Amino acid sequence: MKACVLEKYGEYPIYKDVNAPEIEEDDDIIIKVAGVGVCRTDIHEIFGNLKDRTRLPLILGHENTGYVYDFGSKVHNISKNDPVILFPYITKGYCLNCRKGNDMFCTEDPYMPGIDANGGYAEFMKTKIRAVVSLPKSIKNDDLINMAPLADAGITAYHAIKKVYPLIIPDSTVIVFGVGGLGHIAIQIIKSMTAAKIIAIDISQEKLELAKKYGADFTLLFSNNHDIIKECMKFTHNNGANIVFDFVGENNSTEYSLKLVKKQGTVVVVGYGGIFKESTFDLIIREINIIGSLTGTYSEFTELIQMYLDGKIKVETQRFNLREAAKADELLKNGKIQGRAVLVP
Ligand SMILES: [Zn+2]
Repeated sequence: MKACVLEKYGEYPIYKDVNAPEIEEDDDIIIKVAGVGVCRTDIHEIFGNLKDRTRLPLILGHENTGYVYDFGSKVHNISKNDPVILFPYITKGYCLNCRKGNDMFCTEDPYMPGIDANGGYAEFMKTKIRAVVSLPKSIKNDDLINMAPLADAGITAYHAIKKVYPLIIPDSTVIVFGVGGLGHIAIQIIKSMTAAKIIAIDISQEKLELAKKYGADFTLLFSNNHDIIKECMKFTHNNGANIVFDFVGENNSTEYSLKLVKKQGTVVVVGYGGIFKESTFDLIIREINIIGSLTGTYSEFTELIQMYLDGKIKVETQRFNLREAAKADELLKNGKIQGRAVLVP
């Protein structure tokens, strides 16, 4: 089969022929990939920032949809050609964290295809029955391709919002910091589930236009010429935002998030790569809550998928042929992707 393989850190994946995956264990499923989202984590992997997990050569891609192609003897309730979307973690499901639904904290050798094992930058990929979510058989191939980013960007945005959902009361102001793959989905989820006013912040005017299209009430361009704190305070009558979702997590976004949040407000950190620094006095005197948020649960995943199928949220995608993975990765690295890049084999 054709696949895009990361062979050397610092170099983009190479399009080439490789052996297709085969059924080895009786709960394995082989998927014919329909779409695979391109995530900032892929860039971290390419540039060697996840060396403690990645083993080269590696097929990237952890946001996957496709059709069931083959399966082991223990797999039931699924048929060949069924359309599916894949939960990003593969776990056995026996540990207490898994039983609570928190597979991301599984204690029994969890792994993510595309990071710890071969993923979906390929014509076929291997997963396990526990990671599969069946979709309506009537779903159009076009939708299946478009949905791929829900498998990480979507679920991560949704989980972050669910964590603080009771705090988003009707007169709240919520900031979405970074309108990329996660941010543009987050805006739609917040819009659909709450009555809060949404401020979107980004360094790109085009991304702020996207934010407006999906329901942001106010946008702030993050640049040297704009005092976003002053503008945010004006919009919030000098209070600041109740909640700041930091989907950037680097380039001093966290420093700004702490200045943009109101007293007793909450900063939810979702993006990563930077360092968090703040005076303890400032945290105490303003009673700021800081929360980390990682991916999401299988049941949250199914809730989000239902929102998509009901037309409550859309995914803005820029499509590339699988052989163009390197180009998509580079455009993402340079901040040139609107919404999410999706590779189509
Ligand atoms: Zn587990």
